[in-house]
Amino acid sequence: MIRTRFAPSPTGYMHIGNLRTALYTYLIAKKENGKFILRIEDTDTERFVEGAIDIIFNVLKDTGLNYDEGPDIPGDFGPYVQSERKHLYEEYAEKLVEKGHAYYCFCNEERLSHLREEALKNNTVFKYDKHCLNLSKKEIQKKLENQEPYVIRQNNPVEGTTTFNDILYGEITVPNFELEDMILLKTDKMPTYNFANVIDDHLMNITHIVRGKEYLSSAPKYQRLYEAFSWEVPIYIHCPHIMKNETEKLSKRNGDASYNDLIDKGYLSEAIINYIALLGWSPSSNEEFFTLDELIKNFDYKNISKSSSIFDIKKLTWMNSEYIKKMDKEKFHEITSKYYDNLPSQIDRKLLSEMLQSRIEIFTQIPEIIDFLINLPDYDLSIFEHKKMKTTKESSLKILTEVLPIFENTNNYSIENINSLLNEYISSNSYKNGFVLWPIRCALSGKNSSPGGASELSYLFKKDETLRRLKISINKLS
Ligand code: GLU
Repeated sequence: MIRTRFAPSPTGYMHIGNLRTALYTYLIAKKENGKFILRIEDTDTERFVEGAIDIIFNVLKDTGLNYDEGPDIPGDFGPYVQSERKHLYEEYAEKLVEKGHAYYCFCNEERLSHLREEALKNNTVFKYDKHCLNLSKKEIQKKLENQEPYVIRQNNPVEGTTTFNDILYGEITVPNFELEDMILLKTDKMPTYNFANVIDDHLMNITHIVRGKEYLSSAPKYQRLYEAFSWEVPIYIHCPHIMKNETEKLSKRNGDASYNDLIDKGYLSEAIINYIALLGWSPSSNEEFFTLDELIKNFDYKNISKSSSIFDIKKLTWMNSEYIKKMDKEKFHEITSKYYDNLPSQIDRKLLSEMLQSRIEIFTQIPEIIDFLINLPDYDLSIFEHKKMKTTKESSLKILTEVLPIFENTNNYSIENINSLLNEYISSNSYKNGFVLWPIRCALSGKNSSPGGASELSYLFKKDETLRRLKISINKLS
């Protein structure tokens, strides 16, 4: 049975890279009818952010990445929050000490800073010097009796090599002298992330681990832990980074979007998931649009690319617009309605939604697009000049003056009626459609681009506002 886990740290922020990890992790499990688990990795209490766990819950709910076990979904392997598992880790750390794979370290901050400074001076990477490995049993006993604070460190050999496997990067071998004797248990007996992840992945029967490539360098140390316990090593998939551009990683520090930022900007959850699925994974066909269920069927982690991908907001925006076009009309109207609060009361909001659905790429474009319905913009007369429509300011003045009585003489502002009145006028004068409709649309919207044509806009405004706007243009053009 495949069991995968998404193991975020509650940082208060769902990075796009993390969400992609969650997605791939989910897909691997679901493709084989396995279990997808949510585990909160909160052992780094300094990084803890209030409300951060709720953000994780909400994003996973929103995106449909439903987990089978997690802090709020009971399972056989709980608790699913690392700080609630604190009691478990010490026992395993002690086992390693017994076997010689770990040791107590009593070095104080002063000594460690000194070592760090030395390393900096000598231009070398800081590595703990195994000072406490040489303490005799007696010395250790005495220090423990004196209640001297200690940490437990992994004891990595300085000779030989360690080998592990990654699905994307293959077999990787590193010399052991490169491996830091990392801290497993801190002075407060809280495990480090580096230790807890191995213990928990084993205890939770995790079969596949998807994580960012930044963890590749830690993988040999984890490998040594698995080997020390004689535990089966899970399958590793270290995903390449998502980049902002050729050289910079996508990151909060670079001011880049999180999932919630994208939602706030008006992107749809389904479009975000679809887009990030393709950031590093290519389907076998040319198809680009996938629902979550289709992703489950088509996803194959062996096709994840080894090279980094660039987060292209333009492509996401395009994809989002395609999702919007395909959206259920009612649902679209429900979402857009919240932008309509300040609109004049006569405006038919349902029709407006229909006009917007084929036009917008993201929801937050709406206020700017519909602004002209509230206030006529202070427009420049050059909007009336259109090469293709063969309109000039002069021709526009003539047309507007001629059509004004048509609008004045009717009280039926349905789209059909306005259409037929204008068509009658156009054909009786043998004009081209655009030659007449362009100036009317410009006069009503005050813009050279707006949703809807002459008849839709006059229907939205109804008689008074239509006449008012036509007259303003006639005056401006005269
Ligand atoms: N807690 C780690 C993070 O948020 C998880 C890494 C992993 O999946 O093991 O980056």
